[in-house]
Amino acid sequence: MEQEVLKNLPFSQNVFLFIEIGIVIIVIFASGRKFCGKICPLGLFQDLIHKIKFPLKIKTYKGDTYLRYLKYLLLVLPFFIGDNIKIELPTFVYVLQILVFIFLTIIISRPLCKYLCPWGIVLAIGNKIPSKKYEVNIKKCTGCGLCVKKCKMDIMPYKQINNVECIYCGTCQKICPCKAISKRTRLPSVVNGQEKNDT
Ligand code: SF4
Ligand code: SF4
Repeated sequence: MEQEVLKNLPFSQNVFLFIEIGIVIIVIFASGRKFCGKICPLGLFQDLIHKIKFPLKIKTYKGDTYLRYLKYLLLVLPFFIGDNIKIELPTFVYVLQILVFIFLTIIISRPLCKYLCPWGIVLAIGNKIPSKKYEVNIKKCTGCGLCVKKCKMDIMPYKQINNVECIYCGTCQKICPCKAISKRTRLPSVVNGQEKNDT
């Protein structure tokens, strides 16, 4: 079936398709979700909007964990429904969507990255490559929780470093008063089947 689709595409489109797939694979392996934290313009946009002062700022809430699975659903949905469904919405609905998104971004850090963007899942494959990532020195960490308070993706850096949700923004590393979080520059040593945090 897929071969049939590729066969029907003109040669130039095939080339572009392979270039696109190649770029995606390179980005996955070279950066993982660091792309979300450092390169994606929508990420920067969300960070700027979230800086707007507002009396209500939500870090985490009941259902946050489950809502993060929404992006997985959005990733697989096109494979089931195809691209034949076209929904025409009135302009005001689009404007309303943008306004709701901006409001959510003011009160919640990076809602697009947490709940909606399927690219985050694809790029998260790169988070599992065990070099050039963060590591926590548990001997230095006092468990003060400052990194948790400042984490843009609202995970627990000192417990969940290199989690699939981590976008490698570097905030936790900068904020840690004990310098317990550092960039790993070599493959982790493995002791008794478990990763060892070196000093
Ligand atoms: S800020 Fe540093 S010391 Fe505090 S919990 Fe996080 S890693 Fe540990
Ligand atoms: S764990 Fe650290 S690097 Fe990862 S998203 Fe949170 S603050 Fe950024």
